Amino acid sequence: MNTYDFDLFVIGGGSGGVRAARMAATRGARVAMAEMLGTDGLGGTCVNVGCIPKKLYSYAAHYAEGFEESHGYGWEGPAPSLNWDTLKTRRAAEISRLNGIYEHMLKGAGVTLLNGFASLTGAHEIQLARLQSDGSSSHSAYTAKHILIAVGGTPFVPHFQGREHVVTSNEMFDLPEFPRRLLVVGGSYIASEFASIFNGLGAQVTQLYRGEQILRGFDDEVRHFLAQEVSKAGVDLRLNADVVAVHREADGLHVELAHQERIVVDTVLYATGRVPNVSGLGLESVGIAQGAQGAVVVNSDFQTNVPSIYAVGDVINRVQLTPVALAEAMVVVDQLFGPEANKAQRQMAYDNIPTAVFTHPNVGTVGLSEQQARERFGHITLYRSEFKALKHTLSGSSERTLMKLIVDTASDRVVGLHMVGPDAGEIVQGFAVAMQAGATKAHFDATIGIHPTAAEEFVTMRTPVST
Ligand code: NDP
Repeated sequence: MNTYDFDLFVIGGGSGGVRAARMAATRGARVAMAEMLGTDGLGGTCVNVGCIPKKLYSYAAHYAEGFEESHGYGWEGPAPSLNWDTLKTRRAAEISRLNGIYEHMLKGAGVTLLNGFASLTGAHEIQLARLQSDGSSSHSAYTAKHILIAVGGTPFVPHFQGREHVVTSNEMFDLPEFPRRLLVVGGSYIASEFASIFNGLGAQVTQLYRGEQILRGFDDEVRHFLAQEVSKAGVDLRLNADVVAVHREADGLHVELAHQERIVVDTVLYATGRVPNVSGLGLESVGIAQGAQGAVVVNSDFQTNVPSIYAVGDVINRVQLTPVALAEAMVVVDQLFGPEANKAQRQMAYDNIPTAVFTHPNVGTVGLSEQQARERFGHITLYRSEFKALKHTLSGSSERTLMKLIVDTASDRVVGLHMVGPDAGEIVQGFAVAMQAGATKAHFDATIGIHPTAAEEFVTMRTPVST
């Protein structure tokens, strides 16, 4: 006899939550999923205000250079202009379609979808608050054998004078007016991607980063190379710079920088990190341990200190990437709902997570940076190739591509692979499989290239640049 309403209650309908709910239900579990369905539909940050709309806008932005470069190939005529409203409308329609697919998949798997704000009231108890049309709220209570917290994260904006005038990545896709002059603050994925995208879409973009170089944590050579490329493409990248205050004036937002500098823009985007979305979740009342920025603390099985409650994805603040949340969700589902054979062997591995930054040009990377590899292995062999892509021999573009392989000299294993160039994410994904399988440089050398591609450089680099 079932003593709980559900076997699994998932709080949050983003990447991790949807995957866990659907896969658990497919394995016969009785699953409920709660999500506040308002302006955003199912799919969480990635689908609504992250990966997907970002990539669509990146495609939109790439057309600009395509129109420009086509002249070198004989195409004539003026470049078309961007209709911002059309882009927004078409993006919104596509996101709604994806929201619908998520709903269809969940319902098809037998998941009970609950629209409302869920909070924890006990180790097995959840309360769901629903806002009524008259502004009041109604509450329902549920019980579940297991609870999964998958509520994601939310943008973090530091305190400064005029903070109320800035926007975050949540608002960028739907700005009422296209920002002719955009200031982006931050130096990591979100800031760098939006800087490139809006530069491509035609905005005059300034990117401010407080440190020495953007993309802290990435390979240093990649960081410097990317900074050069985005600057060449038109982003006014200012390093060691920060905002002191923002004031709204008749001609736009006046942004005071350190050293008495001031710039005037239409929009200021803060992309200064994301924090776990734990507010109002009832973690304290149930006694769930939290770490920095409120992150839910979990063990290697994604179990909190309350054994019936699990957490995955951005809310645990380990690696804020959709594919990581999906993989973490699968570990939980395997642990809780089998198949039996999977239970012992399924653990999440955080090594060799490939990643791409969709700047223009893209960065694709897997494994260790040169600095990390030196620290870990001592003696490494480096291979490096920098070139102008074949396409640009006629396009007139001065864009260059960088590729870099880092090999542990003792074992000959490729331990780092990095690219800055078109489609780097697409290219690096395949090489990530090879690295996951423990490929050596000898394996790379024995692989036949596909000619003419940029990717073939990774299997034709023969002369180390330094050891
Ligand atoms: P990150 O946490 O990666 O970086 C935050 C950036 O803001 C850093 O450059 C940081 O500087 C800077 N910063 C932090 N606090 C301040 C402050 N008080 N004042 C000025 N600058 C500050 O955050 P993002 O917002 O870029 O992205 C969040 C996560 O989302 C990423 O970690 C990534 O995992 C994920 N993501 C992945 C994408 C992809 O896969 N393509 C795309 C977009 C997001 P410093 O380096 O000095 O700390």
